[in-house]
Amino acid sequence: MAPKLTMDKFASLCKRRGFVFQGSEIYGGIGGFWDYGPLGVELKNNIKRAWWKAVVQERPDVVGLDAAIVMNPRVWVASGHVETFADPMVDCKSCKRRFRADELAREHPEPEAAHGHAPLAYPTRCPECGGELTTPRMFNLMFRTYVGPIDVEAEFTRAIAELQGEDWERASARIRDLKDELDRATAYLRPETAQGIFVNFDNVLTTSRKKLPFGIAQIGKAFRNEVTPGNFIFRDREFEQMEIEFFCRPGTDEEWHKHWVEERYKWYRRYGIREENLRVRRLDPDELAHYAKDTYEIEYLFPMGWSELEGIANRTDFDLKRHSEFSGRQLTYFDDETGEHIVPYVIEPSAGVDRCLMAFMMDAYDEEEVRGETRAVLRLHPALAPIKVAVLPLSRHEDLVPVARRVWDLLRPHFMTQYDDAQSIGRRYRRQDEIGTPYCVTIDFDTLQDEAVTIRDRDSMAQVRVPIANLVDALKERLADCL
Ligand code: ATP
Repeated sequence: MAPKLTMDKFASLCKRRGFVFQGSEIYGGIGGFWDYGPLGVELKNNIKRAWWKAVVQERPDVVGLDAAIVMNPRVWVASGHVETFADPMVDCKSCKRRFRADELAREHPEPEAAHGHAPLAYPTRCPECGGELTTPRMFNLMFRTYVGPIDVEAEFTRAIAELQGEDWERASARIRDLKDELDRATAYLRPETAQGIFVNFDNVLTTSRKKLPFGIAQIGKAFRNEVTPGNFIFRDREFEQMEIEFFCRPGTDEEWHKHWVEERYKWYRRYGIREENLRVRRLDPDELAHYAKDTYEIEYLFPMGWSELEGIANRTDFDLKRHSEFSGRQLTYFDDETGEHIVPYVIEPSAGVDRCLMAFMMDAYDEEEVRGETRAVLRLHPALAPIKVAVLPLSRHEDLVPVARRVWDLLRPHFMTQYDDAQSIGRRYRRQDEIGTPYCVTIDFDTLQDEAVTIRDRDSMAQVRVPIANLVDALKERLADCL
């Protein structure tokens, strides 16, 4: 079954309920940057926790890392990002729209007869207005920054002012010096978290005393100056990644690759994504990145079609070898069995937190008829739900409020909660359903007599009465699957 949400409806739900806001909205926004509201940050944290639990806590062979976002720029020369991390880009000469040429080629293949190229040849006509497209230009996706107190614009302005009236040779020498100075200060915001892991391979190996095979996991921000950010939070310029570099003996890499594809697929299923909306696709050889021997993608059926949630690549020994070569430090593993130093092969499961958030929410979204009304409900796995328990006094009656507050105080140390006393109880149930809260606790006038409350289940809407004294245990039992 396809998700019932269109992208517009999803974006509006995210905004209305405080999951995702446009970045710097009051200034008109900024393309490709998003802010996560009170519920969004909870959901994101829960996704990251669920991932960390599955790949670090529950495994004997993976440890964590949190490396810096800005790294020595030579890292990106060694990794190939300075040279090859670029997307081909075309502009429409008529309407001035800009597109990623490879995406256009896939989405709007031009009929072979029309130009005589293979179907994936770059298109020559704008899909929006039919105007002529420029030939593709490569566009480096890394965000550049300068380390240290250097003000590029001021430096150039000063140099230009000084050079007025100077001869051409002196002017160009001065500009060259300035360029060298800037080059020395240039750094990049990391476009992936992976390289922080490779450069720490030896540090982690010696301090954790892990034996092959073992992995290093990391969650963190990544930045890409995407040519065409879009599809809401699907393609951003600032986003978060959850990556594992799993080091294994050469020759066992294919087996471990298979293992990780299965593990990662199971993770999405464990946290509720429906089978019919999830698929694994093996990339064609012409789609592989320069470092990859083989890659699988886990894809989700988003409103715009099947799209990548996670890539699982066999990166071979490419990265460790390149960093050894560029840094002069041997990044090898001493193999007790053979007495040799080997360069491990690497399997890399790499997922995006923002895309996961989208997929988990979209997949959980449901609408059903209840007593002639449409009930929108987010059937999120309880471990992911931003709010676990809502405390709802039947009304703001002065006798109910102190008891409801007492119940809320009791629950807050144990669960992420929300207290809501605005509008009718029916409206409040609907509000909690729409944000995926698994349980509502209602305090009514009977509570004043029997010291018991009602627990209402989001999915079945069934209600049970529980003494306040047993409430925490009753909820813990129901939320046992949470982290
Ligand atoms: P795409 O083909 O969609 O550009 P990619 O193959 O470049 O993605 P990877 O480099 O494999 O992506 O990154 C691993 C994961 O990081 C992706 O599967 C995705 O979930 C996430 N990711 C990559 N780029 C972005 C982005 N611009 N915005 C949000 N998430 C992203």
